[in-house]
Amino acid sequence: MIDYILVLDFGGQYAHLIVRRVRELGVYSELLSVDGTQLEVLKEAIRGARGVILSGGPSSVWEGKHDEIARIIIEEGKPALGICYGHQLLARVLGGVVDKARKPEFGPTIVSIKARDDPLFNGIIETIVVWMSHNDAVLEPPPGASILAVSQGSPVAAFKYGNIYGVQWHPEVVHTMFGLKLIDNWLKIVGVERSWKPEDMVGKLVDSIREAVGDGLAIAAVSGGVDSTTAALLAKRALGDRLIPVVIDHGLHPAGEPWGSVELLRKVGLDVKVVKADDRFFEALKGVVDPEEKRRVFGRVYAEVLEEVAEQHGAEYLVQGTIYPDVIESGGRPGSSIIKTHHNVAGLPRGFKLKLVEPLKWFYKDEVRRIASRIGVPKEIIRRQPIPGPALAVRIEGEVTREKVEVVRKADAIVREEIEAEGLQDRLWQYFAVLTASKATGVKGDRRAYGYVVAVRAVISVDAMTASIARLKWELLERIASRIVSEVPGVVRVVYDITSKPPATIEWE
Ligand code: GLN
Repeated sequence: MIDYILVLDFGGQYAHLIVRRVRELGVYSELLSVDGTQLEVLKEAIRGARGVILSGGPSSVWEGKHDEIARIIIEEGKPALGICYGHQLLARVLGGVVDKARKPEFGPTIVSIKARDDPLFNGIIETIVVWMSHNDAVLEPPPGASILAVSQGSPVAAFKYGNIYGVQWHPEVVHTMFGLKLIDNWLKIVGVERSWKPEDMVGKLVDSIREAVGDGLAIAAVSGGVDSTTAALLAKRALGDRLIPVVIDHGLHPAGEPWGSVELLRKVGLDVKVVKADDRFFEALKGVVDPEEKRRVFGRVYAEVLEEVAEQHGAEYLVQGTIYPDVIESGGRPGSSIIKTHHNVAGLPRGFKLKLVEPLKWFYKDEVRRIASRIGVPKEIIRRQPIPGPALAVRIEGEVTREKVEVVRKADAIVREEIEAEGLQDRLWQYFAVLTASKATGVKGDRRAYGYVVAVRAVISVDAMTASIARLKWELLERIASRIVSEVPGVVRVVYDITSKPPATIEWE
């Protein structure tokens, strides 16, 4: 068992970022939702952890919902770090006073560190600007605890009680000065070794696939993207000929994919079979407008096709490239809001017959890329930008038709070509075109034209959990726009999406 830090999710918006930061610092970490997880499971996870971080959350601690969990952590003597709600919870259970804050604090807030000699603040200056978001506050520290920091609205902005720390602010968000440093310091206090390297997990992952499948047969659904290719290649190592890799041709792939990959995949030993099913997808998507419904319909047809392929081969397992953000964003965390139905996870219909094997379920994208390069996934695939399972279906607002797929595919190819011609592909997380549901007026060849509006999206990110827009040069944007309008029939206007994630998502649907 590897050393891990457990992050308990009390429904906080940023809980997943805590996990992310801890892993960045070289320690394995997992998120576990408190609401909806059995107490026994929570207890075991707490016992096994080297330390526990308690996230923020929407509740108020006097509702008493989570006292028992805090008590378990204290009784187990685990080093703990409470953040926001977690801070308030630990303070209250240890006997401190938490009530409505006299001055709620939202956004950038000045904190003054009172205990600069405490190892938690090693290398951190006295006055820092941090990110806060709270209505309640710790008004009095637990008896015997020391106050480490204060702010205008938080007389106890940080406290320490034995090996338990609490901070009212969010060290996990980038807007907090010395946030990563604080988490780094806490890990030092815990004394956990920085030995987590995703690529060292290859052996374990292969073993776990072998164990899961036993002497059965598995199919792997490969899209040509890095996640599914890596999952399939791991499974290939585990199962050899008992793995049947397939590419489902759903007719919604971007230009050149996945056909460009099939040869590459064969070169690395994945002898993929291409299953043509485009008619079925288009038929099923007819008249479907709602994005969630689209994902569901896509997921249903995809599942049917996979079940049929599996049946033909007598396989009962399905290897999928589900990754950690898919799990988190599909609402793998009751207590916080469901962002999207991901077809890899929640999108598979109830009653899906195949047993799932998801070796990459605990990894972020950049970690998957490291694993991929360890096992010899071709560079072209490792670098390939992510695309959601339903592919172009979610890049068309409104009903999906063959004609619209052609339009968005062509526009998308132009976006790629132009961005790649500038050599920007490695700096951008994703860049693509969306066919919007709007129509607009234009003039083509002196004639009034009424047609499609295409949106161009390009973002920068490390793991897709947050993203900022790419500040592309005007000249480049203009070139993209003029090529799309002149080369793609039916398009009269091009707009650039300048919204970051959050509040927007990267994909439009
Ligand atoms: N609900 C608590 C408050 O308003 C905690 C908020 C949080 O964790 N962000 O203070």
